[in-house]
Amino acid sequence: MKIAVLPGDGIGTEITAQAVRVLKALALPMELEEAPVGGAAYDRLGDPLPESTLNLAKAADAILFGAVGGWQYDTQPRSKRPEQAVLGLRKHLGLFANLRPSIVYPELVNASTLKAEVVSGLDLLILRELTGDVYFGQPRGVRIAEDGPFKGQREGFDTMRYAEGEIRRIMHVGFAAARKRGKKLCSVDKANVLETMQLWKDVAADVAREYPDVAFSSMYVDNAAMQLIRNPKQFDVMVTGNMFGDILSDEASMLTGSIGMQPSASLNESSKGLYEPIHGSAPDIAGKNLANPLATILSAAMMLRYSFDKDEAAGRIESAVRKVLAQGLRTADIYEAGTTKVGTVEMGDAVLKAL
Ligand code: NAD
Repeated sequence: MKIAVLPGDGIGTEITAQAVRVLKALALPMELEEAPVGGAAYDRLGDPLPESTLNLAKAADAILFGAVGGWQYDTQPRSKRPEQAVLGLRKHLGLFANLRPSIVYPELVNASTLKAEVVSGLDLLILRELTGDVYFGQPRGVRIAEDGPFKGQREGFDTMRYAEGEIRRIMHVGFAAARKRGKKLCSVDKANVLETMQLWKDVAADVAREYPDVAFSSMYVDNAAMQLIRNPKQFDVMVTGNMFGDILSDEASMLTGSIGMQPSASLNESSKGLYEPIHGSAPDIAGKNLANPLATILSAAMMLRYSFDKDEAAGRIESAVRKVLAQGLRTADIYEAGTTKVGTVEMGDAVLKAL
Protein backbone atom coordinates (compact mmCIF):
# COMPACT_ATOMS: atom_id res chain seq x y z
CA MET A 1 0.00 0.00 0.00
CA LYS A 2 1.77 3.11 -1.26
CA ILE A 3 0.31 6.27 0.22
CA ALA A 4 1.24 9.80 -0.83
CA VAL A 5 0.79 12.21 2.06
CA LEU A 6 0.11 15.79 0.93
CA PRO A 7 -0.41 17.93 4.06
CA GLY A 8 -0.73 21.31 2.30
CA ASP A 9 -1.23 24.57 4.19
CA GLY A 10 -2.61 25.97 7.43
CA ILE A 11 -4.06 23.28 9.66
CA GLY A 12 -3.35 20.74 6.86
CA THR A 13 0.03 19.83 8.36
CA GLU A 14 -1.39 19.48 11.89
CA ILE A 15 -4.33 17.24 10.99
CA THR A 16 -2.51 14.96 8.54
CA ALA A 17 0.23 14.41 11.14
CA GLN A 18 -2.42 12.88 13.44
CA ALA A 19 -3.93 10.75 10.67
CA VAL A 20 -0.46 9.45 9.76
CA ARG A 21 0.16 8.44 13.39
CA VAL A 22 -3.11 6.49 13.35
CA LEU A 23 -2.30 4.76 10.04
CA LYS A 24 1.16 3.78 11.27
CA ALA A 25 -0.26 2.38 14.50
CA LEU A 26 -2.24 -0.20 12.51
CA ALA A 27 1.08 -1.86 11.61
CA LEU A 28 -0.11 -2.80 8.12
CA PRO A 29 2.35 -3.17 5.24
CA MET A 30 2.28 0.41 3.97
CA GLU A 31 4.73 2.97 2.64
CA LEU A 32 4.02 6.63 3.32
CA GLU A 33 5.80 9.39 1.43
CA GLU A 34 5.21 13.10 1.92
CA ALA A 35 5.31 15.93 -0.62
CA PRO A 36 4.42 19.63 -0.58
CA VAL A 37 1.19 20.84 -2.20
CA GLY A 38 -0.71 24.14 -2.42
CA GLY A 39 0.82 27.29 -0.95
CA ALA A 40 3.60 25.28 0.72
CA ALA A 41 4.64 23.92 -2.68
CA TYR A 42 4.38 27.34 -4.30
CA ASP A 43 6.67 28.83 -1.64
CA ARG A 44 9.26 26.10 -2.08
CA LEU A 45 9.02 25.24 -5.77
CA GLY A 46 7.01 28.06 -7.41
CA ASP A 47 4.05 25.82 -8.31
CA PRO A 48 1.04 24.71 -6.19
CA LEU A 49 1.17 21.28 -7.85
CA PRO A 50 4.85 20.65 -8.74
CA GLU A 51 5.70 17.81 -11.08
CA SER A 52 7.47 15.92 -8.28
CA THR A 53 4.27 16.00 -6.17
CA LEU A 54 2.08 15.02 -9.11
CA ASN A 55 4.41 12.13 -9.96
CA LEU A 56 4.32 10.90 -6.37
CA ALA A 57 0.50 11.10 -6.42
CA LYS A 58 0.39 9.20 -9.73
CA ALA A 59 2.71 6.46 -8.46
CA ALA A 60 0.82 6.02 -5.16
CA ASP A 61 -2.19 3.73 -4.62
CA ALA A 62 -3.91 6.40 -2.54
CA ILE A 63 -3.42 10.00 -1.45
CA LEU A 64 -4.00 11.45 1.99
CA PHE A 65 -4.63 15.16 1.50
CA GLY A 66 -4.83 17.83 4.22
CA ALA A 67 -6.02 21.19 2.94
CA VAL A 68 -4.65 24.04 0.86
CA GLY A 69 -5.04 27.81 0.81
CA GLY A 70 -4.14 30.90 2.78
CA TRP A 71 -4.81 34.60 2.84
CA GLN A 72 -1.32 35.42 1.56
CA TYR A 73 -2.10 33.67 -1.75
CA ASP A 74 -5.48 35.32 -2.41
CA THR A 75 -4.01 38.02 -4.66
CA GLN A 76 -1.99 35.61 -6.86
CA PRO A 77 -3.01 34.89 -10.46
CA ARG A 78 -5.55 32.01 -10.48
CA SER A 79 -3.11 29.47 -11.98
CA LYS A 80 -0.71 29.97 -9.04
CA ARG A 81 -3.33 29.75 -6.29
CA PRO A 82 -3.07 26.80 -3.87
CA GLU A 83 -6.63 25.62 -4.74
CA GLN A 84 -5.45 24.80 -8.29
CA ALA A 85 -3.63 21.82 -6.81
CA VAL A 86 -6.92 20.12 -5.87
CA LEU A 87 -8.41 20.68 -9.34
CA GLY A 88 -5.15 19.51 -10.96
CA LEU A 89 -5.05 16.29 -8.94
CA ARG A 90 -8.70 15.53 -9.75
CA LYS A 91 -8.08 16.06 -13.44
CA HIS A 92 -4.74 14.20 -13.73
CA LEU A 93 -5.93 11.22 -11.70
CA GLY A 94 -9.42 11.03 -13.25
CA LEU A 95 -11.12 11.22 -9.84
CA PHE A 96 -14.74 11.06 -11.00
CA ALA A 97 -16.49 9.72 -7.89
CA ASN A 98 -16.77 11.91 -4.81
CA LEU A 99 -18.02 10.11 -1.69
CA ARG A 100 -19.20 12.15 1.26
CA PRO A 101 -20.55 10.33 4.27
CA SER A 102 -22.70 12.20 6.79
CA ILE A 103 -22.70 10.38 10.08
CA VAL A 104 -24.29 11.74 13.24
CA TYR A 105 -22.50 10.38 16.29
CA PRO A 106 -24.81 10.04 19.30
CA GLU A 107 -22.49 12.24 21.38
CA LEU A 108 -22.68 15.08 18.83
CA VAL A 109 -26.38 14.97 18.11
CA ASN A 110 -26.85 18.48 19.51
CA ALA A 111 -24.27 19.94 17.10
CA SER A 112 -26.84 19.87 14.27
CA THR A 113 -29.23 22.75 13.70
CA LEU A 114 -31.97 20.15 13.13
CA LYS A 115 -33.97 18.46 15.88
CA ALA A 116 -32.14 15.56 17.51
CA GLU A 117 -34.84 13.02 16.58
CA VAL A 118 -34.50 13.93 12.88
CA VAL A 119 -30.74 13.36 12.71
CA SER A 120 -29.85 10.93 15.51
CA GLY A 121 -28.42 7.72 14.10
CA LEU A 122 -28.02 9.20 10.61
CA ASP A 123 -25.52 7.36 8.37
CA LEU A 124 -25.84 8.68 4.83
CA LEU A 125 -23.46 8.51 1.88
CA ILE A 126 -23.77 11.03 -0.94
CA LEU A 127 -21.97 10.08 -4.10
CA ARG A 128 -21.38 12.99 -6.47
CA GLU A 129 -20.09 12.62 -10.03
CA LEU A 130 -17.11 14.97 -10.17
CA THR A 131 -15.79 15.32 -13.71
CA GLY A 132 -18.83 15.82 -15.98
CA ASP A 133 -22.16 17.68 -16.19
CA VAL A 134 -22.82 21.34 -16.82
CA TYR A 135 -19.54 22.26 -15.07
CA PHE A 136 -17.49 20.83 -17.95
CA GLY A 137 -19.92 20.55 -20.90
CA GLN A 138 -19.15 22.43 -24.11
CA PRO A 139 -20.16 24.79 -25.62
CA ARG A 140 -20.36 27.41 -22.91
CA GLY A 141 -19.88 31.13 -22.79
CA VAL A 142 -21.52 34.53 -23.07
CA ARG A 143 -22.82 35.68 -26.48
CA ILE A 144 -25.23 38.16 -27.98
CA ALA A 145 -28.77 36.77 -28.22
CA GLU A 146 -29.82 36.53 -31.86
CA ASP A 147 -33.57 36.30 -31.34
CA GLY A 148 -36.34 36.34 -28.76
CA PRO A 149 -37.51 39.19 -26.54
CA PHE A 150 -33.94 39.87 -25.34
CA LYS A 151 -32.38 39.97 -28.81
CA GLY A 152 -29.14 41.99 -28.90
CA GLN A 153 -28.47 41.52 -25.18
CA ARG A 154 -25.75 39.36 -23.66
CA GLU A 155 -26.83 35.83 -22.77
CA GLY A 156 -24.90 33.24 -20.79
CA PHE A 157 -25.10 29.54 -21.68
CA ASP A 158 -23.68 26.23 -20.44
CA THR A 159 -24.20 22.68 -21.61
CA MET A 160 -25.44 19.87 -19.38
CA ARG A 161 -23.94 16.69 -20.77
CA TYR A 162 -23.43 13.12 -19.60
CA ALA A 163 -22.32 10.13 -21.67
CA GLU A 164 -23.94 6.80 -20.87
CA GLY A 165 -20.58 5.33 -19.78
CA GLU A 166 -20.03 8.17 -17.31
CA ILE A 167 -23.39 7.47 -15.68
CA ARG A 168 -22.78 3.73 -15.61
CA ARG A 169 -19.40 3.97 -13.88
CA ILE A 170 -20.64 6.26 -11.09
CA MET A 171 -23.68 4.00 -10.59
CA HIS A 172 -21.43 0.95 -10.22
CA VAL A 173 -19.42 2.78 -7.52
CA GLY A 174 -22.72 3.63 -5.80
CA PHE A 175 -24.12 0.10 -5.90
CA ALA A 176 -20.82 -1.39 -4.71
CA ALA A 177 -20.84 1.05 -1.77
CA ALA A 178 -24.52 0.31 -1.00
CA ARG A 179 -23.71 -3.42 -0.86
CA LYS A 180 -21.21 -2.70 1.94
CA ARG A 181 -23.74 -0.54 3.81
CA GLY A 182 -27.54 -0.46 4.12
CA LYS A 183 -28.23 -1.96 0.65
CA LYS A 184 -30.36 0.97 -0.55
CA LEU A 185 -29.56 3.37 -3.38
CA CYS A 186 -31.46 6.46 -4.49
CA SER A 187 -30.52 8.05 -7.82
CA VAL A 188 -31.27 11.78 -7.90
CA ASP A 189 -32.12 13.51 -11.17
CA LYS A 190 -34.38 16.05 -12.87
CA ALA A 191 -35.72 13.75 -15.54
CA ASN A 192 -39.06 15.56 -15.64
CA VAL A 193 -37.39 18.59 -17.28
CA LEU A 194 -33.92 17.71 -18.62
CA GLU A 195 -33.03 15.27 -21.42
CA THR A 196 -29.60 14.56 -19.87
CA MET A 197 -31.31 13.63 -16.65
CA GLN A 198 -33.81 11.31 -18.42
CA LEU A 199 -30.77 9.43 -19.72
CA TRP A 200 -29.31 9.49 -16.17
CA LYS A 201 -32.50 7.98 -14.79
CA ASP A 202 -32.79 5.29 -17.50
CA VAL A 203 -29.14 4.22 -17.17
CA ALA A 204 -29.39 4.16 -13.35
CA ALA A 205 -32.41 1.84 -13.57
CA ASP A 206 -30.55 -0.33 -16.06
CA VAL A 207 -27.47 -0.70 -13.82
CA ALA A 208 -29.78 -1.41 -10.85
CA ARG A 209 -30.83 -4.68 -12.53
CA GLU A 210 -27.27 -5.95 -11.99
CA TYR A 211 -27.66 -5.45 -8.22
CA PRO A 212 -30.90 -7.20 -7.26
CA ASP A 213 -29.79 -7.27 -3.61
CA VAL A 214 -29.80 -3.45 -3.42
CA ALA A 215 -33.16 -1.64 -3.14
CA PHE A 216 -33.22 0.99 -5.90
CA SER A 217 -35.25 4.19 -6.20
CA SER A 218 -35.15 7.46 -8.17
CA MET A 219 -36.05 10.91 -6.91
CA TYR A 220 -36.23 14.39 -8.44
CA VAL A 221 -33.59 16.72 -7.04
CA ASP A 222 -36.03 19.30 -5.70
CA ASN A 223 -37.84 16.62 -3.72
CA ALA A 224 -34.48 15.15 -2.59
CA ALA A 225 -33.39 18.55 -1.22
CA MET A 226 -36.60 18.69 0.80
CA GLN A 227 -36.49 15.04 1.95
CA LEU A 228 -32.88 15.47 3.19
CA ILE A 229 -34.15 17.96 5.77
CA ARG A 230 -37.55 16.33 6.41
CA ASN A 231 -36.38 12.77 6.96
CA PRO A 232 -32.71 12.18 6.09
CA LYS A 233 -32.69 8.72 7.63
CA GLN A 234 -34.78 7.34 4.74
CA PHE A 235 -31.57 7.41 2.63
CA ASP A 236 -28.59 5.06 2.62
CA VAL A 237 -26.62 5.91 -0.58
CA MET A 238 -27.63 8.84 -2.81
CA VAL A 239 -26.03 9.04 -6.27
CA THR A 240 -26.21 12.21 -8.29
CA GLY A 241 -24.53 14.37 -10.93
CA ASN A 242 -21.92 17.05 -10.44
CA MET A 243 -24.13 20.10 -9.99
CA PHE A 244 -26.92 18.52 -7.94
CA GLY A 245 -24.29 16.68 -5.87
CA ASP A 246 -22.42 19.91 -5.20
CA ILE A 247 -25.53 21.39 -3.62
CA LEU A 248 -26.97 18.30 -1.91
CA SER A 249 -23.65 17.26 -0.35
CA ASP A 250 -23.18 20.68 1.27
CA GLU A 251 -26.78 20.55 2.47
CA ALA A 252 -26.14 17.09 3.94
CA SER A 253 -22.94 18.24 5.67
CA MET A 254 -25.06 20.53 7.82
CA LEU A 255 -27.11 17.59 9.09
CA THR A 256 -24.12 16.63 11.22
CA GLY A 257 -23.41 20.22 12.22
CA SER A 258 -19.62 20.06 12.36
CA ILE A 259 -17.22 20.61 9.48
CA GLY A 260 -14.32 19.21 11.53
CA MET A 261 -15.92 15.75 11.58
CA GLN A 262 -16.51 15.12 7.88
CA PRO A 263 -14.24 13.00 5.71
CA SER A 264 -14.43 12.50 1.94
CA ALA A 265 -13.02 10.34 -0.82
CA SER A 266 -12.59 10.98 -4.55
CA LEU A 267 -12.03 7.80 -6.55
CA ASN A 268 -10.98 6.93 -10.10
CA GLU A 269 -11.80 3.85 -12.17
CA SER A 270 -9.17 1.69 -10.53
CA SER A 271 -10.26 2.68 -7.00
CA LYS A 272 -7.27 4.88 -6.55
CA GLY A 273 -8.44 7.67 -4.33
CA LEU A 274 -7.73 11.03 -2.82
CA TYR A 275 -8.91 11.22 0.77
CA GLU A 276 -9.40 14.52 2.53
CA PRO A 277 -11.51 16.32 5.12
CA ILE A 278 -14.22 18.47 3.52
CA HIS A 279 -12.99 21.61 5.29
CA GLY A 280 -10.23 23.97 4.16
CA SER A 281 -6.94 25.10 5.67
CA ALA A 282 -8.59 27.21 8.43
CA PRO A 283 -5.92 29.94 8.54
CA ASP A 284 -7.71 31.52 11.52
CA ILE A 285 -6.74 28.63 13.80
CA ALA A 286 -3.59 27.32 12.05
CA GLY A 287 -0.55 26.56 14.20
CA LYS A 288 -2.49 26.82 17.46
CA ASN A 289 -3.19 23.14 18.14
CA LEU A 290 -6.93 23.92 17.87
CA ALA A 291 -7.95 22.04 14.72
CA ASN A 292 -10.12 18.95 14.92
CA PRO A 293 -8.13 16.11 13.31
CA LEU A 294 -11.06 13.64 13.28
CA ALA A 295 -12.26 14.40 9.72
CA THR A 296 -8.77 13.58 8.44
CA ILE A 297 -8.45 10.48 10.63
CA LEU A 298 -11.86 9.33 9.31
CA SER A 299 -10.64 10.06 5.75
CA ALA A 300 -7.76 7.66 6.41
CA ALA A 301 -10.35 5.05 7.45
CA MET A 302 -12.18 5.63 4.14
CA MET A 303 -8.86 5.09 2.35
CA LEU A 304 -8.46 1.68 3.93
CA ARG A 305 -12.05 0.74 3.02
CA TYR A 306 -12.31 2.05 -0.53
CA SER A 307 -8.78 1.85 -1.96
CA PHE A 308 -7.44 -1.17 -0.04
CA ASP A 309 -10.55 -3.17 0.84
CA LYS A 310 -9.47 -3.27 4.47
CA ASP A 311 -12.89 -2.99 6.09
CA GLU A 312 -11.74 -4.37 9.41
CA ALA A 313 -8.90 -1.85 9.82
CA ALA A 314 -11.22 0.98 8.71
CA GLY A 315 -13.78 -0.15 11.29
CA ARG A 316 -11.11 -0.12 14.00
CA ILE A 317 -10.32 3.54 13.31
CA GLU A 318 -14.01 4.48 13.24
CA SER A 319 -14.62 2.65 16.53
CA ALA A 320 -11.64 4.43 18.10
CA VAL A 321 -13.12 7.80 17.05
CA ARG A 322 -16.50 6.83 18.53
CA LYS A 323 -14.75 5.80 21.73
CA VAL A 324 -12.96 9.13 22.25
CA LEU A 325 -16.22 10.98 21.65
CA ALA A 326 -17.94 8.71 24.19
CA GLN A 327 -15.14 9.52 26.63
CA GLY A 328 -16.23 13.16 26.33
CA LEU A 329 -13.12 14.48 24.57
CA ARG A 330 -13.79 17.42 22.25
CA THR A 331 -11.76 19.87 20.19
CA ALA A 332 -12.98 23.48 20.38
CA ASP A 333 -15.25 23.23 17.30
CA ILE A 334 -17.40 20.47 18.86
CA TYR A 335 -17.03 21.47 22.50
CA GLU A 336 -20.10 21.76 24.71
CA ALA A 337 -20.51 22.20 28.46
CA GLY A 338 -19.80 19.04 30.42
CA THR A 339 -17.18 17.70 28.00
CA THR A 340 -13.36 17.95 28.10
CA LYS A 341 -11.68 20.35 25.69
CA VAL A 342 -8.51 18.99 24.05
CA GLY A 343 -6.12 20.15 21.32
CA THR A 344 -5.26 18.58 17.96
CA VAL A 345 -2.36 16.50 19.27
CA GLU A 346 -4.21 15.36 22.40
CA MET A 347 -7.14 14.24 20.25
CA GLY A 348 -4.67 12.24 18.13
CA ASP A 349 -3.19 10.74 21.33
CA ALA A 350 -6.66 9.70 22.50
CA VAL A 351 -7.53 8.03 19.17
CA LEU A 352 -4.23 6.13 19.24
CA LYS A 353 -4.91 4.98 22.78
CA ALA A 354 -8.44 3.87 21.88
CA LEU A 355 -7.08 2.03 18.84
P1 NAD B 1 -12.33 26.46 6.15
O1 NAD B 1 -13.03 25.18 5.98
O2 NAD B 1 -10.86 26.43 6.11
O3 NAD B 1 -12.77 27.13 7.54
C1 NAD B 1 -14.12 27.52 7.83
C2 NAD B 1 -14.29 27.64 9.35
O4 NAD B 1 -14.29 26.32 9.92
C3 NAD B 1 -13.16 28.40 10.03
O5 NAD B 1 -13.69 29.15 11.10
C4 NAD B 1 -12.25 27.31 10.56
O6 NAD B 1 -11.54 27.69 11.72
C5 NAD B 1 -13.24 26.19 10.86
N1 NAD B 1 -12.63 24.86 10.67
C6 NAD B 1 -12.33 24.26 9.49
N2 NAD B 1 -11.77 23.08 9.70
C7 NAD B 1 -11.70 22.91 11.02
C8 NAD B 1 -11.21 21.86 11.86
N3 NAD B 1 -10.65 20.74 11.37
N4 NAD B 1 -11.29 22.03 13.20
C9 NAD B 1 -11.84 23.13 13.72
N5 NAD B 1 -12.34 24.14 12.99
C10 NAD B 1 -12.26 24.04 11.65
O7 NAD B 1 -12.90 27.44 5.03
P2 NAD B 1 -12.45 28.93 4.63
O8 NAD B 1 -12.05 29.69 5.85
O9 NAD B 1 -13.52 29.43 3.76
O10 NAD B 1 -11.16 28.72 3.72
C11 NAD B 1 -9.81 28.81 4.18
C12 NAD B 1 -8.90 28.42 3.04
O11 NAD B 1 -9.08 27.02 2.72
C13 NAD B 1 -9.16 29.17 1.74
O12 NAD B 1 -7.93 29.51 1.16
C14 NAD B 1 -9.94 28.17 0.88
O13 NAD B 1 -9.78 28.40 -0.49
C15 NAD B 1 -9.30 26.89 1.31
N6 NAD B 1 -10.12 25.67 1.09
C16 NAD B 1 -9.43 24.55 0.72
C17 NAD B 1 -10.10 23.34 0.56
C18 NAD B 1 -9.30 22.12 0.20
O14 NAD B 1 -8.09 22.12 0.39
N7 NAD B 1 -9.90 21.05 -0.29
C19 NAD B 1 -11.48 23.27 0.78
C20 NAD B 1 -12.16 24.43 1.18
C21 NAD B 1 -11.46 25.64 1.34
